[in-house]
Parts: sequence; C-alpha cells; structure tokens
Amino acid sequence: MILVLDKGHGGKDPGACGNGLEEANLTDDICNRIAAKLVPYDVQVKFAPRSDSLNERAAFANDLGADYFCSIHINAGGGTGFESYVHTDAGDDTERIRTMLHSTIYSGFLAGQGVVDRGKKRANFAVLRETEMPAVLLENLFIDTAADAEKLKDSSFLDGLANEIAYGLVVALGLQKKAITVTGAITIRVAGKVLEGKEIDDLTWAPVRALAEALGKTVSWDEATRTVNVI
Ligand SMILES: [Zn+2]
Repeated sequence: MILVLDKGHGGKDPGACGNGLEEANLTDDICNRIAAKLVPYDVQVKFAPRSDSLNERAAFANDLGADYFCSIHINAGGGTGFESYVHTDAGDDTERIRTMLHSTIYSGFLAGQGVVDRGKKRANFAVLRETEMPAVLLENLFIDTAADAEKLKDSSFLDGLANEIAYGLVVALGLQKKAITVTGAITIRVAGKVLEGKEIDDLTWAPVRALAEALGKTVSWDEATRTVNVI
C-alpha cells in the first residue's frame, strides 16, 4: 500500500497567507504529523514533490503506482470550516473512501472544536483530475478568518487534526498494523556478564536495567512519566 501525501504549495509558492500564517508551512507541519502517526501501519507514505507544477505532483503518484493520493490545504477567501473534494467525475470507490475520511475527521475531532462542516464537494482540481488512483483534497479551515487562524496557530489543534486525518486514512483504506517479527534470543556479553536479548524487527533489544548495571550505571524508574533514567 502506497499513500502519497501532497503538502500543497511550497517551493516558491507559499499558498494562501493571512493572520501571520502561511499555508505552505501549515500543510508541511500537518503532513509531517500525519506521516509520523502512520509509522506503525503497513503503508509506505511518500510526499509529493513541492514543485510549482501540479501535474508533476500527480505524475509522481502515478509513476509510483500509489494506491491513494491525499492533498492537504488551508482554505482562504473569507469563510470558515472544513470541506473535502473529490474530482467532478470521481467513481464510487473514490467517493466511498472520501465519505469515510470526511466523516471520521469531522465527527472525530473537528465537531468538538466548534469547526463548521462545509460539506463534501466535487471540483475539477488538477491533482484530482491527473491522478490515476482515488484522490482527495482536504481544505482545513480558513487562513484569512481570525477565528480559524487562532486554531491553526495552536500546535495541539494541528496535532489533533493530523491525528484524526491519519486515523481516517487507517479506517478508510483499511490499513493494518505492521507485524512485529521477533526472530529469537540473542546473547549479549557486557563486561564479562551474559545477558539475554531479543531480535525484534532487525533490532537487538536488551533489558535496560541489566545492561546499564553491567556497565556500572545506576538505573531508576519514574512511573509518572514512564521514564527509565540511567546515571
Ligand atoms: Zn491551497
């Protein structure tokens, strides 16, 4: 499964600006957060090139043979709220995925933030027209509306939005958690002591207390922050 995230604008084009914000910075931030939240899932996330050519973004996804294309934007022009777009001639599958994505993002997060639902729309946007796989374009609030911009300045809002977009993609695309491969026991020798470790997904894991104490360190555990301190 290959998912292409389009950060919208970028390069020489900052996108819409207002209230001290630039669209390209916000979409960069949101897309990076979405990608980070999808790491545990069995999906390859690729960012479309931030070139001035919208066709290049679509061609990038087409050349990869991507399964889904998701373009992230911030709206402008006076107004408020969230809306989603598929292409004017989108087929049933594209519409089905969009509907699940839209309703998950809206009811799972935006409704509780007092954001207006502007609805599920269709348009002849280049990235929706030129992509050969199901594609969606999300317009996330208005950069030039003060109340929307206040939300967009709040990193916990951006994180909640990205979290719900990622969750919507998991649900709508049926993404599965990556299988963890535990290959088996590994013997670890530390300063003459023998510890037993494990190989999990090509990484060697060792019990931290035994390892640190074998190296003469002091180990403590902070339950509140679930942090191991090695001194
Ligand atoms: Zn835009």
